[in-house]
Amino acid sequence: MNSPTALRTSTADLYDAHVMKNYARAPLTLVRGRGALVWDDQGKQFLDFTSGIAVSALGHCHPHWVAAVQRQAGELIHTSNLFRNPNQGELARRLIGYAGPGRVFFCNSGAEANEALIKLARLHGVKKSGGEEGKCYKVICAKNAFHGRTFGGMSATPQAKIQKGFAPLVPGFSFGELNNLQSFADLIDDQTAAIFVETIQGEGGVNACTPEFLVGLRKLCNERNLLLLLDEVQCGIGRTGKFYAFEYAGVTPDAIGMAKGLGGGMPIGAVWVRENAAELFQPGSHGTTFGGTPLACAAALAVLDVIEKERLLEKVSINSTTWIGALKQLATEFPAQLLGVRGQGYLVGLQLASDPAPTLAALREAGLLAPMAGGNVIRLLPPLTATPQELAQSVEILRKVFAAKSVA
Ligand SMILES: *Cc1c(COP(=O)(O)O)cnc(C)c1O
Repeated sequence: MNSPTALRTSTADLYDAHVMKNYARAPLTLVRGRGALVWDDQGKQFLDFTSGIAVSALGHCHPHWVAAVQRQAGELIHTSNLFRNPNQGELARRLIGYAGPGRVFFCNSGAEANEALIKLARLHGVKKSGGEEGKCYKVICAKNAFHGRTFGGMSATPQAKIQKGFAPLVPGFSFGELNNLQSFADLIDDQTAAIFVETIQGEGGVNACTPEFLVGLRKLCNERNLLLLLDEVQCGIGRTGKFYAFEYAGVTPDAIGMAKGLGGGMPIGAVWVRENAAELFQPGSHGTTFGGTPLACAAALAVLDVIEKERLLEKVSINSTTWIGALKQLATEFPAQLLGVRGQGYLVGLQLASDPAPTLAALREAGLLAPMAGGNVIRLLPPLTATPQELAQSVEILRKVFAAKSVA
């Protein structure tokens, strides 16, 4: 048993036999990565515009990130939140530098960050009701949203394919039409505590809140004493060319959930809460064992270092303008297949005319990895370090695949 001479079972066989079947996985085993490139176990090279679903912000194995993580791993990895560690304090300070005065709570994932936002909404509701529980607890979210797979996140995610089988859900969530301010206003009542939206819906198909809509939500929240909670788990940490996507609208939310790109591959989530609202959390009211470990925070600090030193926000803005222009050109060449291109920076959605699964398989065959999103959309999520050449290469691969399909 387990002897080195025993015949090694293939990775595919191990997955088939032992791994939970909750994913429709691509038939691909990835073993190595550098920058925007990954290789499978057959030695085939791919341009990786999945980036672990917007996680690998610096691409794979960026030398500064690797050195920082290796150094920290040899020094101190985990201590719990019963003690301070220097990296957590520094990372909080750096995130506040982008978001504004407030406080930061660290956790391990997007869903966990969003749970903290939902709990914050409940605490705000209790405060609004003069300390009485269960009177003001409702949260208004957007149709087509995705906020994660926990009970809170799932209850805020109005999609049958995600909620099916899990009733009863957490009560109190209702759903307005994205970019229709009146539809949100109509849902507010005395029991409403917060409005909670993704600044740009990722899984839902790359649908952005317009700046006017966000400004309108801010105003509604001010007038009705509601918290404005923004899910920046996918669109934050530089992906759009600003550190947070809401910066384009010039609003300040009351709290932000972030995760994916923050650790550059190390699991870490964070919640920034604006000054006054941050006092809602008191000792004992929330926590997590793994949140903000020295190791995870070292990884996130390395991500911020590289974003700043390599001027990645500026590069994403500039490079994406040319790239999105070239993608829109593709849409004019293949209007029967590619209906439109949307998004900002390195968070782009290609609206296809039909189910994107066969196109994604063809792209994979041609050397480009990309994830799908709701509503027949292919997402393109290059690492923030992707070069103009790599972006141009993605357009060429797409052109080849669309051309082959239009002949077939
Ligand atoms: C991925 C995602 C989540 C969930 O994050 P996990 O780390 O998978 O729990 C929540 N919100 C948005 C917008 C996301 O893209």
